[in-house]
Order: sequence, then structure tokens, then C-alpha cells
Amino acid sequence: MQRLSDRTNGFTDSVIRRMTRVSLECDAINLSQGFPDFDPPREILSRLAEVAASGPHQYAITWGARNFREALAEKQSKLMGRDIDPDEDITVTCGSTEAMMTAMMSVVNPGDEVIVFSPFYENYGADAILSGAEPIYVPLRPPLFGFDTDELESAFKRRPKALILCNPSNPTGKVFTYEELSVISELAKKYDSYIITDEVYEHIVYEPRRHIYIASLPGMFERTLSCGSLSKTYSITGWRLGYIIAPARISETLRKVHDFLTVGAPSPLQEAAVAGLKMGEEYYRDLLRTYTEKRELFLSGLDHIGIGYTKPDGAYYVMLDVSPLGYESDMELCVDLAEKVGVGAVPGSSFFRENVNHLIRLHFAKKDETLYEALNRLEGIWKLKR
Ligand code: GLN
Repeated sequence: MQRLSDRTNGFTDSVIRRMTRVSLECDAINLSQGFPDFDPPREILSRLAEVAASGPHQYAITWGARNFREALAEKQSKLMGRDIDPDEDITVTCGSTEAMMTAMMSVVNPGDEVIVFSPFYENYGADAILSGAEPIYVPLRPPLFGFDTDELESAFKRRPKALILCNPSNPTGKVFTYEELSVISELAKKYDSYIITDEVYEHIVYEPRRHIYIASLPGMFERTLSCGSLSKTYSITGWRLGYIIAPARISETLRKVHDFLTVGAPSPLQEAAVAGLKMGEEYYRDLLRTYTEKRELFLSGLDHIGIGYTKPDGAYYVMLDVSPLGYESDMELCVDLAEKVGVGAVPGSSFFRENVNHLIRLHFAKKDETLYEALNRLEGIWKLKR
């Protein structure tokens, strides 16, 4: 038989999802794939129950139900400090995964270059392959994960079509400063590149840091495709509700690509999620307080165990330095960690372009009791020492 498409030849499976399967097989506590084990807000769930009876159950408008876009526009306008037009600037997608893919497909011609900071969330690799983009990797160097401005400018000199910005960053927890975002913005304007963001952790940024939307910097809304999601903010990763905010000129194309990819995000879930989008500031304060406490709980546990890590300023991941364990392969270490210690982690090498294999990623979006049990088990990590 004929071979399947060349496009997919370079694909590996998702290491994050693979580690979930490994965790399940060994009955390990799964701190690999980042999703909560606690419930979404009551308001959303009771609305979902009503929607089951009342509908809608048929397609919404392809680029998103009107009331969902209105509620989202109101919320994001306040955060981004400009008027987001629900009729022109928003495309609702099946998770930010589709948002990013739709953004890439809309911006990139096969062979165009796209800047990707490394380490990077693994989907960007697949997004690049499927859209035909050639990634130019610019390192964010551990342990602080800063970038070198000259190195970034050299990448821009190749006239990339876009730069992908994950802020707050998965996997590192880095939160880009205003100065860093200004450098990126100035270069994007100078070399006429688009910015495609992944801002799904916008509400999980720890004090005293603040999330800054690159689209809110001078002259940047025009060239930014801001991708976001409700998954992390309302603990509904399975609902697959995401969106792209971009000016009408860009959104017009995004909506067509999105329509042909998926037609639309699930209409009953959009309807139920409006209850979340309409919640007041207190909800986001509580969410941040919860994650701040979880970060504290988890990091002090790691301190007690005596393992090094980079403290995240945002998101709910932490990169551990496992070099004292003496493994050459971080994948092998993660399999041993799941099998012999009972905790699932993601090998850092799956996020890096460079040859880095001394870091592993754990997440702490779990109930406190789950985190305590994971920390108890992690005390056994030293028995893996070679
Ligand atoms: N964003 C989450 C992570 O990095 C979940 C990824 C996924 O499976 N879609 O673990």
C-alpha cells in the first residue's frame, strides 16, 4: 500500500500523554499531564445541568455562540486594557490546541520560518509540521530561563513570519517581564512578524508578578493572535473551550480555517461556561490563592526532600534538577520514577531543542491530599540514585 503522508512521518506521539499512560499502568500519582483532580466551580456545573434540559444541543455559530463571545469580550477587554469586539475580534475554538493550530495555519505558508523559544510546549512542534513552518529555536537557558537579545535579533533577521510566545510558560513557569515583552515587540515590529501567543495560564501568575498581554503593548494588537483557553482558569480541561483574539483583518481568516477544521466548539459547553466568564474578580483571586498555596505546599515538600528546582512565577509546573541521580536518560528516569517511586513526571528533554536531559517536569494542580501523598512517595526518589 502507499505510504501515509510525508507530513506525519516526523511525528512522535505526545510524551506528555505517553507519561499519563505510563502512570496509569503503574498506578502512579500522575503529575505528568497538567490537569486538576478537583471540581470546576459549582456555578458552571449547575448551569451545565440546566443546559442539558434546555439546550442548545445543535451547532452554535461557527466562530462561537454570541453570548459566549460577549461575556469573553467583556472579561478580556478589562484585562487587556482595550475594547475587544465580540463580533469582529474573537474566534471560539476547541481548546487552545485548536486555537494555536488555526493560528499557525492562517499565518504560515509552507517553508516560512517561525521563532519558538526552547524549552517549548510540545504541541508547537506538531503545529509547525502540520502548517509547514520551519522553527527557529531560541534558547531560554536554565535555571532562570532568560533569553539573549542578540540571539533573538539574529533569529528575527531571518525574517520569520511569526514568533510563538507561551506566557506564562509551560514547562518552565517563566513569566515574561514588561522589558522582555518590549524587546520582543520592538523586534516583531522592526522585522514585521506576527506574534502567536499561548496564554492559557494568564490567571495563574504568582505575586508580586503580573501577567502582561503582549497584545496590549503599543502597536502590538494589530500583529498579535492571542490564544487562550477556559481549561485551566475554570478547571475544565476536558471541555475543550479555547479562543483566539485578533483584529478583524486576521480574525476573518482565522474563522474560515477554524470552520473547516472543526465547525465549532461544543455549543452546550459554551452556554454553560458563560456562567464562568461572568464570575467576578473574587473568583480569580481565589483561584490564584489556591494555586499559590499549592505551590508553597509542593515546593516546601521538595525542599524537605532536598531536590533542586526552578521556582515558577506562573502556571502550575515545576522543573526539577535531577542531575544528582546520575541518569543519562531522563525518559528512563521518568519510567523508573513511575514504576518504583509511584509518581508520574515528564522528561524535560521532550520540551528542549537543545541536548538537556537533567530536568523533569512535575505539576501541582492536584488536591492537597494528592500532593502530600506524591511528596511522601517522592522521598523515595533517592533510592534511584546510580
Ligand atoms: N497543557 C497540559 C500539559 O502541558 C496538558 C497537555 C495536554 O495533554 N493537552 O501537561
